[in-house]
Amino acid sequence: MRRRSIASLILAGCLATGGAGAQTFPSRPITLVVPFPAGGPTDTLGRILAERMGKTLGQTVLVDNTTGAAGTVGVGRVARAAPDGYTIGIGHWSTHVVNGAAYPLNYHVLDDFEPLAQIATNPQLVVARRDAPIADLKGMVAWTTATPDTITAATAGVGAASHVGGVYFEQKTGAKLRFVPYRGGAPALQALMAGQVDIMFDQAANSIPQIRAEKIKAFAVTAKTRLRAMPDIPTVDEAGIPGLHIAIWHGLWAPKGTPKDVAAKLTAAIMEALTDPKVRERFEALGQDIPEPAQQTPQALRAHHEAEIKLWWPLIKAAGIRIE
Ligand code: ASP
Repeated sequence: MRRRSIASLILAGCLATGGAGAQTFPSRPITLVVPFPAGGPTDTLGRILAERMGKTLGQTVLVDNTTGAAGTVGVGRVARAAPDGYTIGIGHWSTHVVNGAAYPLNYHVLDDFEPLAQIATNPQLVVARRDAPIADLKGMVAWTTATPDTITAATAGVGAASHVGGVYFEQKTGAKLRFVPYRGGAPALQALMAGQVDIMFDQAANSIPQIRAEKIKAFAVTAKTRLRAMPDIPTVDEAGIPGLHIAIWHGLWAPKGTPKDVAAKLTAAIMEALTDPKVRERFEALGQDIPEPAQQTPQALRAHHEAEIKLWWPLIKAAGIRIE
């Protein structure tokens, strides 16, 4: 009798504090930190997933845009959050690879996180304001090399994917661009549509709706193959800059030390969302490729993450992309 009442007291205590471990997880809403502004590519993926994950988990997954400094503010918040599964983050190639080489960080992009799942990959599109005086990628190379330091390129922040894409373009062509950093892909694209900047190396997911609406023009995709979502746009290899390939893969992470069983529940909810035909359709319409399930797992994300750090850190350092 006495024993039973102690047990029920412990159980009541667990429920009151939000539960301990996977049995009761999640017993309250989960926060998904998006380190870029609303309406950008990372935010869009995060919101589609959050909605579907909430159904599986039986709790709301709230999206919180914690922005600034190429995603380092939001990712740092996740690194320092309580490792209980209630704060997780979405990020991508530049937040979790490039930033580790470009910024002096008070967290480690690999070691301070538990990988949850790899969700989607999209290349960049080389795009320009609608009235830019060029018609194709070769024209853009001629334009940017003829007038160094004058053609403006919008970026989602110093060291963001859009910045690295531009630096890679400079290295391949000898052009010299004037980079204009914004807080994320959404405001950068707004500036391009308004004609305040000339060009952008933008994630396909961000640009596709505006290309369809003819608000900007697209010259090439930074991949070996054309996009299924927009098959008329040539690859960089076809359009004149062979090898300018950039793939921006997104993943989700929890803070280091999150209990394994809690992390496993989150992973299962993400992977289940990625089997939903509606989620797949929305991702694919944005030029996002969903990896096979074996490549979505935490182990696969960790291995890919490590390999990308090995590949890109020396290149980022050699390119001199560094914020002190
Ligand atoms: N991921 C950024 C955003 O969602 C864009 C970028 O890094 O290119 O705004």
